[in-house]
Amino acid sequence: MNDKPEKLIDKKGVRLDGRKPDELRPIKIDVGVLSNADGSAYIEHGKNKILAGAYGPREVHPKHLALQDRMLLRCRYHMAPFSVQERKSPAPSRREVELSKVIRESLEPSIFMEYYPRTALDVFVEVLQADGGTRCASITAAALAVADAGIPMRDIVVACAAGKVEDTIVLDLMDEEDKLGSADVPLALMPNLNAVTLLQMDGILTVEEFEQAVNLAIEGCKKISAIQKETLKAKYVDVKEVEE
Ligand code: UDP
Repeated sequence: MNDKPEKLIDKKGVRLDGRKPDELRPIKIDVGVLSNADGSAYIEHGKNKILAGAYGPREVHPKHLALQDRMLLRCRYHMAPFSVQERKSPAPSRREVELSKVIRESLEPSIFMEYYPRTALDVFVEVLQADGGTRCASITAAALAVADAGIPMRDIVVACAAGKVEDTIVLDLMDEEDKLGSADVPLALMPNLNAVTLLQMDGILTVEEFEQAVNLAIEGCKKISAIQKETLKAKYVDVKEVEE
């Protein structure tokens, strides 16, 4: 593990990786990356590298889990053993079970579950490289994988965190800020409906700081949402040769 840096943010408001407090890490998204999945997405969010695959709607196994009036959404978040500095056991950890639930609950409000009774939609998230904020990047990728599978949705969920390092509220914490900072507020949003589908807080903030962090996270979500939509549209752009 690296030694603790002296300061996470300097007097001029420059963070360890050179970002300003309200700046996102570089983000790159791809859709349709897995040919065996019904829908898929790959995201690079800073140093995070995450793959999401959506399978369904399909028959439910075991059958007794099927819901008579709506689709069953199952999500699995998994971190590859090589995704972090210290080897992560491939067996599901408590944290992974929690994050699987968090991802499912973030996506569920956006999907027209009632359109597909007695079926299942399975969403698998594989974290290949982790650098803080993997739950948010996973939600962003998982929502795109579901959209890519052609499942009708009210909106495409997008997620981003804000938090506090030293005395400053900052956007999109990377690993060091996440671990050494004093608070982290991950938020998932349906940007067109302006509805929050996930709000968590790790650490302590005053009411004013919390409001500031939530607003900053929403701004971050909106920026990522634009990249998400551009990526999805680009897949369906018809490339035609223009004859002179
Ligand atoms: N992490 C790690 N080993 C683990 C789990 C997490 O090194 O077994 C790191 C990883 O970089 C992750 C960060 O700790 O992104 C923060 O984890 P947290 O539980 O806060 O979730 P996240 O911020 O990724 O949503």
